[in-house]
Order: sequence, then structure tokens, then C-alpha cells
Amino acid sequence: MASNRTGQTPATLDQLVVRCMDCGRDYPGDQAITRCPACGGLLDAIIPLDRTLTPQDFIDPAAVPGLTSGVWRYRALLPTFPNDAIVTRYEGNTPLYWSERLANYAGLTGGRFGAKHEGHNPTGSFKDRGMTVALTHAKAIGASVVACASTGNTSASLASYAATAGIPAIVLIPEGKVSASKLGQTVALGARVVQVEGDFDDALAILRELTVTHNVYLANSVNPYRPEGQKTIVFELLEQLGWRAPDVIALPGGNLGNTAAFGKALSEAYAVGLIDRVPRLVTVQAEGAAPFAAYYDSGFDHYAPVHAETIASAIKIGNPASVERARRSIQTTGGIVTAVPDTDLLDAKAVIDAAGIGAEPASAASLAGVRKLVREGHISADATVVGVLTANILKDTDAIARYHLGDEPGERANRPVRIPAEMAALEKVLDDALHA
Ligand SMILES: *Cc1c(COP(=O)(O)O)cnc(C)c1O
Ligand SMILES: [Zn+2]
Repeated sequence: MASNRTGQTPATLDQLVVRCMDCGRDYPGDQAITRCPACGGLLDAIIPLDRTLTPQDFIDPAAVPGLTSGVWRYRALLPTFPNDAIVTRYEGNTPLYWSERLANYAGLTGGRFGAKHEGHNPTGSFKDRGMTVALTHAKAIGASVVACASTGNTSASLASYAATAGIPAIVLIPEGKVSASKLGQTVALGARVVQVEGDFDDALAILRELTVTHNVYLANSVNPYRPEGQKTIVFELLEQLGWRAPDVIALPGGNLGNTAAFGKALSEAYAVGLIDRVPRLVTVQAEGAAPFAAYYDSGFDHYAPVHAETIASAIKIGNPASVERARRSIQTTGGIVTAVPDTDLLDAKAVIDAAGIGAEPASAASLAGVRKLVREGHISADATVVGVLTANILKDTDAIARYHLGDEPGERANRPVRIPAEMAALEKVLDDALHA
């Protein structure tokens, strides 16, 4: 794979192929389809796997000046685009924090817990990893407008990458259900924001209708190129572990694009010999938005959408678009799907935050779910677990204010103290701090 080391790629899009996961039909990848035209099935980008790869086949960031993206480094396992077509904001390269405090909280008494912090991406969430590939594809095929429906982070990411690519973006958000920080970010980054009177599922449904009849590039995670970028979360964490697979990789599940991407990444890394065993994927939903957990509990026999209710707005999705791709991921990794109540989510978030790491509410599902599964005996207490924190702490400051400063503060609330402007009062604060 010397061609990958030097960053050389073919100058055309001829090699791009997408395949229907239901009927197996192939389609050329140089067009904007997100469902199989023949049967409606979800599409996968095809990566050639009849070869062996070694860690040296990934681009050394130092070797390609200007291409320090933590996504495109792994292009040996990504769809192929010409170098000069890549739309990047140098996403990825996120830290993996090993935390004893989080391990103890999860009950991993003999194991360890690593937090893979995707909040360290350019717009503050893992969505950037998928968006760099989607916008690269959109630009390469000459899309004139890109659009998504979003609970907030996808819109901020699309706004940023569309502006980088110089393509107009339309973003549909469920009215009144997106955090002020995410809405503000999206507006400021220049997307045309449309507030839909309905929930996320309603917004995605009308947008999909529009993309069928109009020439609009759909950037939701049903788009087969977004999961390709999101696969690099897994490649990067495996690399950070010296390509020794952990026992478990845990992540929140909303629309399930990430669960789909993670399973594909693990299958591919295994197929080309980068890892010698596949870790179990653990997808964690909020109890009020857990159609995938119910599907799992039925032995993947019966799926039914739900009306979603949870404080974790990023995973407040009642009818996940990638449910069948995600099922495949859970089945091929011997994975588990579970759900946690909002109180557990908020408790885990408070622990992640107070450990100095911080994340948005949905991210805390990773830790809360692992804690539940350790307690129930489904994850061994001496397991090595990597939990993905999907976005940063500033993504939902409303939730922080409610928990710590609100009328009904959470159990671990850290309320500011109010004092008169007097030395004695401040000394009392110091004394309390020293004896806490
Ligand atoms: C998008 C998002 C999720 C859910 O990811 P899916 O791929 O939709 O399952 C979880 N957490 C955060 C912060 C997100 O932005
Ligand atoms: Zn098909």
C-alpha cells in the first residue's frame, strides 16, 4: 500500500461503489443516492478487503504536510477521493483518557475505562468525522445544495463543512427541541436553518421526500459516506491501544449511524488483519427513546418505532434510520443493546464532568450503560472498556444550568455559594474547601 503512504490517489471517482445491504445490488458511488433504488434498502460503501494491511499503511501525519486530518490518515480503509477534492477541517485526532474515577464509577474494579473524547472535533462532536467524507463526496459529484435534519450536532457540523466546501446548506431542526448552544452554532456557521413544527423523525421524513424529487444532497447518516468517516473513531482508538482490541466499545445510540459505522469498522479491521479479535459493541439508548434496545430484547425479531422522550436531545429519536445496519453491527460483534433512565444519564454526566473531562448529556450514556451492564454481570469487572464521549460539555449549557443551578438540582449539583464582599466570608469558603 505504498500509494497510501505517499497520499497518492486516483484522479477519478470510478472506484466508488455502494451496495444495498438487503438485495446486494451495486451502484456507482458517483451519485447522491441514500437508499437502494430497487428495494429501498440501506447502502454501504464498498471497501476492498481482499488484502492485508499493517499499521504502517496509515498515513503518518508528519509525512503529508497539511493533511493532518485524523480521518483521512486512514484512507486505506476509506472510499477513494483525489487529494485536492478533500474537504477537511483537520477533524479527528481526539484524545483517549484513561480514568480511574470513571472506571470505579462503572464498577470496573479490576478493569479500566477509557473515554474516547469526540468532543475534541472542530465543531465539538463526532459528526465532523462523517461530514468531512460526505462533503468531500458532495463536492466531488458537484452537489449544488446539501441538507440534513438534525437534533443539533449534525447541523452545526454540516454548516461548518458546507461553508468550507462553498456549498449552501439547509438544516431542518425540530422546533424548540435543540439546545440553544447548538442552534446558535449552526446559525452562526451560516446554514439556512428551518425550524420544523414536529420532532426529529417528522423533520427527517419530509426532508427525505424532498431529496427524492429535488436535486438536494442528503447529509444525514443514511448517506453511505458519513459512516465511512465515523469508522475512523474505531481505527483511531485501536491505534491508540497499539492495535490490541479492548473487550468492549460502548457508545450512545440515537439514529444509530455510529453503531452502524463501528460494526463496519471492526469487521474491516479484522478482515485486513489489523486486529485478531473483535470487541463487543455496546449501544446505550435513553429509556424514553429506546426502540433499538426493545428490538434487541426481542432477539431482533420485532421492531417498532416509539415516540421519543429524553433529556438527552442528541439521542431523542424514536425511529432510527440506520436500525438494520446497526443490528448487523451488534450481531457481528456479539454486542449488547441496553437503555438507561435519564436520571442515570445525568448522574453519569455529572461524574464525567467533575472528573475534569466533561461531555454533553447524550455522551454520558456510554458510561451509564457500562455501569448498568457491569452491575448485571453482562460486562466483567476486569474488562478493558472504551466509552465514546460523542460531544463536548458546552453543547448543552441549558442542561448544565438545570442540573446544577435549577430549582430541582441533581444529586451531585455543585451550586455556587453567595457571599458578601468581605474577607471573613471568603475565609470561611477557603476553610470549607480545605476540609471538603
Ligand atoms: C449524533 C449524536 C449521538 C447519536 O449518534 P447516532 O449515530 O445518531 O446513534 C449521540 N451523541 C451525540 C452528542 C450526538 O451528536
Ligand atoms: Zn436493494
